[in-house]
Amino acid sequence: MFICFEGIDGSGKTTQIKLLQEYLSQLSVEHIVVREPGGTKAGEEIRRILLHSDFRLQPESELLLFMAARAQIVREVIRPALEKGLVVLADRFMDSSLAYQGIGRSLGIEIVSTINGFAVGSTIPDITIYIDVPATEAVLRMRKEKKNDKIEVESLEFFEKVRNGYMKIIREKLDNYEIVDGTRSMTEVHECIRNIVDRFLQR
Ligand code: C5P
Ligand code: MG
Repeated sequence: MFICFEGIDGSGKTTQIKLLQEYLSQLSVEHIVVREPGGTKAGEEIRRILLHSDFRLQPESELLLFMAARAQIVREVIRPALEKGLVVLADRFMDSSLAYQGIGRSLGIEIVSTINGFAVGSTIPDITIYIDVPATEAVLRMRKEKKNDKIEVESLEFFEKVRNGYMKIIREKLDNYEIVDGTRSMTEVHECIRNIVDRFLQR
C-alpha cells in the first residue's frame, strides 16, 4: 500500500509520518518512509542542488530536477518495496509538483501532469493524505522552528498560492484523497490519520 502525505511547508507532514511510523511498528506492519527530493543517491544529490545551492533555478529546471529525483526513487525504492508487500509512506509525491511548480510557479497543471506521468508510470499512491493549514499559520510555525530557509526566499503569497493549488487539485480528483485539518493538535491530527490508515489496512 502506497500512502502519500502532502501539504505546504510547515503543515506537519514529517511529524505526522513519524507518529504514523511508530503506530505501524506497534502493529508490526512492515513499512518504509521515503522523502523527496531525495531517498536515493542521485536523489540526494538533486536535493542538494534544489535546496542548498546559492543559485536560483529557473522554474522549468526546478520542475525537471524534482521529476528526475522522483523517477529514481520510484524505480529504485518505491516499486521494489510495494512488490514485497510493504507499506510505503511518502513525504511528498506527484501533487507537490502540481501545487508548487504547476501553480506556485505558474508552469501549468497540464505540463506538470504529463511529466509526472512519465516519471512515475503506474506507480501512484493508493491514498493521499493532505494536511491543510493556512499559509499564515504555516509560516508562523516555520519561523518559530527556524526550520526552513525557504521562508527567507518565498513569500507568504507564494505559500497561499501553493495551498490554493493543492485545494484545486484535490477538488478535481477527490476519490483517493483525505483532507485533514492540520491546525488541530499534533495528537488530534495523528488520531485522524490513524483512522484513515486503519480503514485502508482492513481492506
Ligand atoms: O519539507 P520538505 O523536506 O518536504 O521540503 C522540501 C522543500 O522543497 C520545501 O521547501 C518545498 O517548498 C520545496 N518543494 C518545491 N517543489 C516541490 C516539492 C518541494 O519547491 N515539488
Ligand atoms: Mg517536512
